[in-house]
Amino acid sequence: MSFDLIGTIIDRSNNYIDGQWRPAAHRFDVVDPATGAALSSVPDSGKADAQAALDAAAAALPAWRALPAKVRAQHLKRWHALVIAHLDELAQLISREQGKVTAEARAEVIYGAAYIEWFAEEAVRSYGDIIPGPAVGKKMMVVKEAVGVVAAITPWNFPIAMIARKLAPALAAGCTVVAKPAEDTPLSALALARLAHEAGIPAGVLNVVTASRAQAAQVVDVWLDDARVRKISFTGSTDVGKHLARQSAATLKRLSLELGGNAPFMVFEDADLDAAVDGLMAAKFRNGGQTCVSPNRIYVHAAVYERFSELLVRRVSALKVGPASDPAAQVGPMINARAVDKITRHIADACARGAKVLTGGKPLHVEGSGGTTFFAPTVLAEADHTMLLAHEETFGPVAALFRFENEEQAMRLANETPFGLAAYFYTRDLARIWRISERFESGMVGINEGAISSEAAPFGGIKDSGYGREGSRYGLDDYMQTKYLCMGGL
Ligand code: ADP
Repeated sequence: MSFDLIGTIIDRSNNYIDGQWRPAAHRFDVVDPATGAALSSVPDSGKADAQAALDAAAAALPAWRALPAKVRAQHLKRWHALVIAHLDELAQLISREQGKVTAEARAEVIYGAAYIEWFAEEAVRSYGDIIPGPAVGKKMMVVKEAVGVVAAITPWNFPIAMIARKLAPALAAGCTVVAKPAEDTPLSALALARLAHEAGIPAGVLNVVTASRAQAAQVVDVWLDDARVRKISFTGSTDVGKHLARQSAATLKRLSLELGGNAPFMVFEDADLDAAVDGLMAAKFRNGGQTCVSPNRIYVHAAVYERFSELLVRRVSALKVGPASDPAAQVGPMINARAVDKITRHIADACARGAKVLTGGKPLHVEGSGGTTFFAPTVLAEADHTMLLAHEETFGPVAALFRFENEEQAMRLANETPFGLAAYFYTRDLARIWRISERFESGMVGINEGAISSEAAPFGGIKDSGYGREGSRYGLDDYMQTKYLCMGGL
């Protein structure tokens, strides 16, 4: 199928409601962080738009839920094929509104598409059970059914992948969806909706409503207050996640909350240091450190601390920062000025408390780009738990090295956080691998591995990092409810 996806999305983006592109009364600008210039504008929606989207999703639910899973899977497969067919355009759109470099943007499209394919395949495997009953003349059965209308609220750091991994399991399960993408990156979500439309996904099954930061609560509150929305699936900050949990309590909605992280990354004295540096580079500097599984506290055993920091500094200082339009760029701009402020504040606080900048440490001017949010990839030595960056997610290209003397101390420090999303460690001691894996208070553990995300794996956290799992066979359950059937008189 050939059409100008980027042109349509950038020039004429409107809300996607009930299979139609509908304008709202107001619009707001979407900015390219690499240039600082407005790239497009999208509807700044309000209550009426949110209501229309919900009405459409509720109306579409009975027919979509009643389709054989195989038919829903066929819709998802067509959608997946279109996403892959438009890989380059989608990658370009991601880079332009979010800033990540081209290779990473392409990887994101493939990663996001993989969730659509995965859940197309899982849709047909939502088996129930026959329970051997304790009484004569009675049969007991369990069936799985779609929870109903789902509201999906997503962040800006992975504009395609974060929404794909909510929409795909929801649609596969037989749910219909109202979605509000992040205000910084609404275009990629609208492009996905365009492709869903082309794939023949029926009107009302998927609805996308965009809104500025100021209007986000107006839109989402409509969905929170309405009992027809049976589930909220949210990825974003812990504060907003807790707000959604409180507000949805009145109608007892189900929740999947993928919230902030503060991942520890431990390097033991027996680790393969080259592998540990490779793993850290992949986990820490992907998307300029703007990922929720990005290592935020790097604990290195005193015996290998100097060697590890030397190897790391060599790699980090060689990273090329620039816009996605520069094919050699490896780290793009930060999403906005707020992000740069936080990174700068964390570094200043750490330095005031004794940390040393080994490389980077400040915003960067990239000649000719116009962007004002580039930041030099940074390594800080001598970090400790008196510093802000030990307790808050920096969400930027800052690798802070903490020195530790023994396993017990490292474990205590690693778990000294309310968050529990990802944790990583490098060691060659098999007994220690099991010990540490069990002791980490986190939903995911990378063992001698920095790249843990996959559509085949359950992604999610514990503690203040939320609950619910995305991806894998567990991911479909979050969008299904269990119904028990008891047949008597047999
Ligand atoms: P981040 O700090 O990464 O921007 P947020 O939690 O602030 O994370 O934002 C994630 C998503 O939540 C975005 O789509 C944003 O618009 C939305 N959001 C922010 N505040 C609210 C709110 N009060 N109610 C509903 N959604 C919100």
